[in-house]
Amino acid sequence: MPELPEVEVSRQGLLPFLVGRQIVGAVVRTPSLRHPIPPGVAERLVGLRVETIARRGKYLLFDCASALGGGWLLLHLGMSGSLRLVAPKTPAAKHDHFDLSFGETVLRLRDPRRFGTLLWHEGSDIEHHPLLAVLGIEPLSAAFDGDWLYAATRRRHGPIKPLLMDNRLVVGIGNIYAAESLFLAGISPRRAANRIGLERCRILAGAICSTLQAAIAAGGSSVRDYVNSDGGAGCFQLSCAVYGRAGQPCPTCGRPVDMIRQSGRSTYYCARCQH
Ligand SMILES: [Zn+2]
Repeated sequence: MPELPEVEVSRQGLLPFLVGRQIVGAVVRTPSLRHPIPPGVAERLVGLRVETIARRGKYLLFDCASALGGGWLLLHLGMSGSLRLVAPKTPAAKHDHFDLSFGETVLRLRDPRRFGTLLWHEGSDIEHHPLLAVLGIEPLSAAFDGDWLYAATRRRHGPIKPLLMDNRLVVGIGNIYAAESLFLAGISPRRAANRIGLERCRILAGAICSTLQAAIAAGGSSVRDYVNSDGGAGCFQLSCAVYGRAGQPCPTCGRPVDMIRQSGRSTYYCARCQH
């Protein structure tokens, strides 16, 4: 599943190719992904220009609004979506649901499992879109730090790891990144969120940022491949310290990594290093 770092790498990879470019054609090949694709969206897009591509959580937001009108194209890659740039007249494969043509290049959305999202928002006030208004803080924004995390968790009695993965609190921390950040911070995934002090909240916030940034940097080196190949985004991952390594030695102390279930998800951690 594309996680926040993959989506951010997709965004950064697309920017130099699409920003400032005019949309000359659009093709919708399926009526519905996770949500119905708005009828007429292809016709609406033609003639508009991509002013920039923003990101909110795992949504890619194509800003096609200007003083003359327009709006925003929202894309979410769901479980299995990927974006590629292809040459015009490249035949569409079975799961290629959407094309956005810029003349000599075409942005193509492939999504075999169809859990992705493609929506149109008329007007400029994208932050009020119902899918975005419910999202929590961006972990890579300046507002997200240990002081914020400390204040936000004082009434939260549940374990920290499922809370970090709750998009209503903070967006884009998937299972891998939650596990690796908690290991880096030396905090047990089972610890009650409100039992983590200010200093450790600062360490944890820093660990989350550095874990996400490391994944983005790792993916950034493959951006060129991504935009030029059919591989899509998502073929990169951190070399994990604990995630997926149950029974293998902790890289710090050598004790076997534990695996437990939390909120239906696998959690990996070192019971000696994380408290
Ligand atoms: Zn350890």
